[in-house]
Amino acid sequence: MSLLLALQYPEWSNEALCAQVDPDLWFPDKGGSTREAKAICATCPVATDCLEYAIEHNEHFGIWGGVSERDRRHLLDQIPTDDTPDDTWFAAGDDFTYDTDLGDTA
Ligand code: SF4
Repeated sequence: MSLLLALQYPEWSNEALCAQVDPDLWFPDKGGSTREAKAICATCPVATDCLEYAIEHNEHFGIWGGVSERDRRHLLDQIPTDDTPDDTWFAAGDDFTYDTDLGDTA
């Protein structure tokens, strides 16, 4: 990996399961299913790192750590604005992450 790539991608991304399949699954069209991507995220060894990265970098689009855009907004709405992100509330994302039966959309 070049230095530029090493700086671009966090270390945990080397273990990302989404790197092995069609990336469009994580960026469905409006109204498209998120189920398949979430099912893969549910087995991903770096899901917590991924969700943490998305929240820290204010990622607005796509599924990160098994959490859709809409679910991230709900997650963030539940956190007091003066609260500092920590492992406790990143773990709260698990409620959204692994329920692949919701059939929700991005
Ligand atoms: S949790 Fe999902 S989006 Fe994040 S690295 Fe793993 S497979 Fe990719």
